[in-house]
Amino acid sequence: MSTRDAVTARAPGKLNLSLGVGRRRDDGYHPLATVFQAVSLYEEVVATAADELTVTVEGPGAEVTPTDATNLAWRAAELVAAEVGIEPAVHLHLRKQVPVAGGMAGGSADAAAALLACETLWDAGLTRERIALLAGELGADVPFLLHGHTAVGTGRGDLISPALCRGRYHWALATRRSGLSTADVYGRFDDLAEPGLADPEPDRELLTALRAADLEAVGRNLGNDLQGAALELAPDLAQTVAAARSAGALGVVVTGSGPTVAALARSRRHAMAIGAAVTAAGQADEVAWVVGPVGGARVL
Ligand code: ATP
Repeated sequence: MSTRDAVTARAPGKLNLSLGVGRRRDDGYHPLATVFQAVSLYEEVVATAADELTVTVEGPGAEVTPTDATNLAWRAAELVAAEVGIEPAVHLHLRKQVPVAGGMAGGSADAAAALLACETLWDAGLTRERIALLAGELGADVPFLLHGHTAVGTGRGDLISPALCRGRYHWALATRRSGLSTADVYGRFDDLAEPGLADPEPDRELLTALRAADLEAVGRNLGNDLQGAALELAPDLAQTVAAARSAGALGVVVTGSGPTVAALARSRRHAMAIGAAVTAAGQADEVAWVVGPVGGARVL
């Protein structure tokens, strides 16, 4: 056992700067080729030794976040305990900043942070490779949130390779209180998909632009194959995208399965101006300003 009674870990939310999606396979998964960037909105998990496994949540969306075994942080604690061969006797307190069901993988960030917090609390001695394997069992986005920075995700998005990324990227995020169900968005994508749809490839022009810190080219090459499906399920999002574009964003994209809209700005000041314009147009419940890339999950 660790000498610490409580361990705090945090993990960032993510944006998909590009998200290529192929046809649904027989096992239900879609092949993905995505460029992820971790950004400065964080989920924090405090793990405290307790008699039994419990979860509490604070922050935006806390009231709609499950506190039972369907919470990904709960499942992370169970996985680490099983590795150590002990009961998962821990209280997990989640402090959320990432919008729930917003396409930024907040639940997966909680899982990544809970893995590290429990590993440290129980002195589990797991290697980074073992932790990454457990992350992959928890969900396709969890390995990236351990890794952080900017990376290419293939397979289900869980096979991560680092991408060289120069420069700092300022984003204005327009978030919505009511999220979009990932399953519904993929379902609509399947309805719309062409029969001969090829497996996706990572976006080379975007990767070249990131390497060169060419903001304009990064903006031009943002893209998301799920955006059409997300816009059908939440048609108002088209006005959010338009409002960010008219405010001079270098590029605007719905992230993941939405509904969060990410607008790339020239500077923090420009990001604030875009956020103000989107708010004035009545096109977001909240706006947030973030920078990327930031590092992955870590114990504080
Ligand atoms: P996805 O990773 O599927 O794109 P998302 O980023 O859109 O998801 P999340 O906030 O991660 O959205 O959660 C989606 C759903 O997962 C929630 O509606 C909730 O029912 C469930 N869930 C499980 N664990 C958590 C958690 N720790 N925080 C938030 N939601 C969770």
